[in-house]
Amino acid sequence: MNEIILLKLGELVLKGLNRRSFEDKLIGNARRRLKDLGKFRVYTKQSTMYVEPAEDGCDMDRAWEAMTKLFGVVGLSRARACEKSAEAMLETARRYLDSQLRQARTFKVESKRADKSFPMTSIQLSQYVGGELHDAYPHLQVDVHHPELTVHLEVRDYAAYVHADPAPGAGGLPVGIGGRAVSLLSGGIDSPVACWMIAKRGIALELVHFFSYPYTSLEAKEKVLNLARLLTPWCGHMVVHVVPFTAIQEELRRKCPEELFTVLMRRFMMRIAQQVAQRCGAGAIVTGESLGQVASQTMEAMRATTAVCALPILRPVVGMDKEEIVRIARKIGTFDTSILPYEDCCTVFTPRHPRLRPTLGELEAAEAALDIEELVQAAVEGIERVRV
Ligand code: ATP
Ligand code: MG
Repeated sequence: MNEIILLKLGELVLKGLNRRSFEDKLIGNARRRLKDLGKFRVYTKQSTMYVEPAEDGCDMDRAWEAMTKLFGVVGLSRARACEKSAEAMLETARRYLDSQLRQARTFKVESKRADKSFPMTSIQLSQYVGGELHDAYPHLQVDVHHPELTVHLEVRDYAAYVHADPAPGAGGLPVGIGGRAVSLLSGGIDSPVACWMIAKRGIALELVHFFSYPYTSLEAKEKVLNLARLLTPWCGHMVVHVVPFTAIQEELRRKCPEELFTVLMRRFMMRIAQQVAQRCGAGAIVTGESLGQVASQTMEAMRATTAVCALPILRPVVGMDKEEIVRIARKIGTFDTSILPYEDCCTVFTPRHPRLRPTLGELEAAEAALDIEELVQAAVEGIERVRV
């Protein structure tokens, strides 16, 4: 019970972002992630957030895992708390960091003293513990510039803490601090990565999925919901708005030229996403489009979809190669689900010869045959909301 997690806060220097709201948001997000893992005390002090188990039986391994995915944290360490004396800190370092002390070839001790009543200076404390550790592990060399292992000692108000170097945190900003956006989630590789990238910048997400039953199966929908669930350790709980899209696609097929189909469909996606955004107070729309990847992802096609949307459209993977996107998808754990072979609404209705550079004029002319408002309203009214 005397092991805790120390988290180093990120980008607090950000201009215009006040520290208090940053910390409050981060603490709230951390508490929600820890809710099912036991009772924890979570608080911040001096640019560090503390996660302390407040009862026996807290699952520290899963808590650690959860905290590595918390946006707003740049680094984190598991630390052992002990009595505020040099001997106790030395003993704790020897027991707690024993295997790391055996493995490292070079080391140093770094001390911080928040409690100024502690009788030794930071330098004296480092020298004492460093000297003793050097005697106990004779193979270790001291290297103050590039040590393999740094033993950190922190004397704080209620206790002292001993830990090794921090592991890298998830970076970014606490989810929610930058407002809310609607993100278009398909079953592919790119859109989950786009969601992750925007959540990382502090944006809470509402997910929208266009579902073309029976052209696409219930399994395809379940796959998308699973992708959404895989994102929750990073993005927090979300609502997936599942939009019935079949009627619109069939109407397009009846009344519009096939070669414009993809872009026309995407314009409808934007119109609907915008309605969802309005209802949930979102300030932007996110997609996983990447320039040149497919026919609907040319600049001209993007212009055509942007034209029906008053909100900014964020396309975080727009300049990335597929390989770069895949690397992130693997890292965040969505890749294996994304490549499961279920059809997407776009692939079912893919035209044989899509127009690469449709003009706004021809798209609008094609849409003149449709009752856009009614189609959009019917789709919005048919939305099924699934909380993940
Ligand atoms: P992805 O891998 O994300 O599916 P993609 O390379 O297959 O992307 P498109 O199918 O052209 O590209 O889709 C581009 C973007 O449009 C997607 O990243 C996603 O944001 C959105 N999108 C496409 N299909 C759907 C859908 N059925 N539901 C919700 N959003 C979609
Ligand atoms: Mg796709």
